Amino acid sequence: MRQDYDAIVIGAGIIGAAVAFELAKKGWRTLSVDRLPAAGYGSTAASCAIIRTHYSTLNGVAMAHESYFYWKDWAGYVGGGDESGLAEYRNTGCLVMKTELNQYLGPICRNLDALEIPWEDWDLEQIQARFPFYDLGRFGPAKRPDDAGFGESDGGKLAGGVFFPLAGYVTDPQLATHNIQRAAEAAGAGFLFNARITEIRQADGRVAGVTLDDGRAIDAPVVVNVAGPHSAQINAMAGVEAGMKIRTRALKQEVVHVPAPAGFDYEADGMVTSDSDIGCYARPELGNHILVGSEDPECDSREWVDPDDYDGNFTEQWRVQALRKAQRIPSLPIPSRMQGVVDLYDVSDDWIPIYDKSDLAGFYMACGSSGNQFKNAPVAGALMAELIEKCQAGHDHDARPVSFACRHTGRAIDLRFCSRRREINPNSSFTVLG
Ligand SMILES: Cc1cc2nc3c(=O)[nH]c(=O)nc-3n(C[C@H](O)[C@H](O)[C@H](O)COP(=O)(O)OP(=O)(O)OC[C@H]3O[C@@H](n4cnc5c(N)ncnc54)[C@H](O)[C@@H]3O)c2cc1C
Repeated sequence: MRQDYDAIVIGAGIIGAAVAFELAKKGWRTLSVDRLPAAGYGSTAASCAIIRTHYSTLNGVAMAHESYFYWKDWAGYVGGGDESGLAEYRNTGCLVMKTELNQYLGPICRNLDALEIPWEDWDLEQIQARFPFYDLGRFGPAKRPDDAGFGESDGGKLAGGVFFPLAGYVTDPQLATHNIQRAAEAAGAGFLFNARITEIRQADGRVAGVTLDDGRAIDAPVVVNVAGPHSAQINAMAGVEAGMKIRTRALKQEVVHVPAPAGFDYEADGMVTSDSDIGCYARPELGNHILVGSEDPECDSREWVDPDDYDGNFTEQWRVQALRKAQRIPSLPIPSRMQGVVDLYDVSDDWIPIYDKSDLAGFYMACGSSGNQFKNAPVAGALMAELIEKCQAGHDHDARPVSFACRHTGRAIDLRFCSRRREINPNSSFTVLG
């Protein structure tokens, strides 16, 4: 293994791989180090990998819209050099129910209008035509099955929905990460697996490199923390937490897989949906299943955990989510055997990511992805590479925040939006919706 690296990237998830790829394309000699045996085996592997353009903040929308174009032309981004084949992006569109909670989608649609991103207003007839098995009654606010009134509509109907055509999902998030790894390697990047970083070393007030659990030391003038749910641990190792106004922590999530209602080809005719009336988002899943995730309604307690010591089993929460979805789909089969995934989000205080430098020279972070940044990985990679290059050349990003020029949409994104020193963004949904 060579020893003369320009940058060490901690983590080979979808975002870490993209950071390495973009740096390598700029000619940087990078080494990505991951404690797991392959790229994308951490929280990325569990991702629902939903791609969408609607977010609560204008910058969030701009970033997601830019990312959409990478997924649309995935081969154009990663090339064809992966022996395992390319990940597939399925553009199904996304239907979001209008509720009081999301202000009937007014603010979100205004964000999309400002950036000229398409959306369509759907009435109940259109929704029912697309999903004949839906009960369009109003059940909110989301409850737990033990709560009074669970499963009973208040007698009213939903207010309709908004269909966002630029949306869908990636069928295999781990393969997508492997695709980026291969592309990064073709650009000269190195990857080291089964190697856990236990120390961030410093010299002369700058980062100097990392130490691995087997005692090996690897030096580099730049180290980037893309450790997903372990990001807070890595920031603590580097001693940079005091310089951050926004922190990150790991949140347990359970994702439910249930069969689609009989007679409906959900893989062909389903789509991504988001329904805050019942607190669920969903998308088609292999084997004519429906994948159901939680929109973290207030009635659920949040389970913050130590990423190295938590119960990775399904709990009662699995059934809660399945039953919530069954309010909208009364014919939903709920098997006795729980299927799906249990994993962790790396959540920031306002559920908006941190893509930034730190107070330690040469140490950077791309973390706090808050359950909603899979889609933005290509953009996160590009903006981190630009930020790192500029800061290493002497630019003071804290005093004069870098403005990132989007390759596809041509827009400029002020990276203050992702600063570790920002005030909590009041426009966030403070949920996985971002
Ligand atoms: C259940 C679930 C559903 C999601 N659904 C969506 C969705 O639909 N759409 C969306 O956009 N986003 C979604 N997300 C979020 C998205 O998947 C994540 O934001 C993204 O995968 C994070 O990528 P990453 O590279 O930052 O982190 P990770 O994939 O977690 O990678 C971090 C890597 O760092 C490594 N690491 C940690 N500590 C060390 C150490 N000390 N030494 C060496 N290596 C270390 C880990 O092994 C890991 O491989 C979801 C996330 C989850 C968990």
